[in-house]
Amino acid sequence: MTLTDTHTHLYSEEFDQDRDEMIARAIAAGVTRFFVPSIDSTYTEKMYALEKAYPGHIYLMMGLHPCYVKENYKEELAHVEAALAQREFKAIGEIGIDLYWDKTTLEIQKIAFRHQIQLAKKYKLPINIHCREAFDEIFEVLELEKSDELFGIFHCFSGTYEQALQAISYNMKLGIGGVVTFKNGKIDQFLSQIDLKHLVLETDSPYLAPVPYRGKRNESGYTRLVAEKLAELYQLPVAEIARITTENSKAIFGI
Ligand SMILES: [Zn+2]
Repeated sequence: MTLTDTHTHLYSEEFDQDRDEMIARAIAAGVTRFFVPSIDSTYTEKMYALEKAYPGHIYLMMGLHPCYVKENYKEELAHVEAALAQREFKAIGEIGIDLYWDKTTLEIQKIAFRHQIQLAKKYKLPINIHCREAFDEIFEVLELEKSDELFGIFHCFSGTYEQALQAISYNMKLGIGGVVTFKNGKIDQFLSQIDLKHLVLETDSPYLAPVPYRGKRNESGYTRLVAEKLAELYQLPVAEIARITTENSKAIFGI
């Protein structure tokens, strides 16, 4: 069985003590494909080193995370553009809008999000969207930029059924992670009404660990627990969930 973690911060300081063991555990659990989103320029070298250490397993995205859109965002966007011009990435991400941590930067978050969507179109890459308390604002930008060339993943999807359909209408797959295992996560209530062709799996590790590890450090191997929860919701064998969601990830990332 091949499982794909479409969103994992493998370079996080949280893994500095046991990163290789953590990755080995994931591979042993069948999670062999890791897509790594960028946060800001301070992590780029660590990402390149990881990719080199795990060829054929680790694939990189490039982008500026909305929580890191600050006074110096133009410099950070220039770093993103320089990296894209220099080498290959599998997606632009993670990008989007986050109004949970800081509402005062909404205007520059919107500018950075839109600019990076345009970069995705230029390089014919998918986008990886981070959305926290900002569905209306995200959909407003997607509405302005929608096109056949715009596609990607709505990472850590945790909205309503209607918001799920709206995201799908913009050529987005829904990134399903630990939230689907939470008692109050809500998406488990309607997810089985959505065709599996629209879903991919992720952990967002080290954040948002699924039950029974909720509140602890998350790791990519727990993608397996997300797949098991979907197997229960869709009443399918876990191997079938793994197969379909990995195929979906290949359709998005081109690998
Ligand atoms: Zn993330």
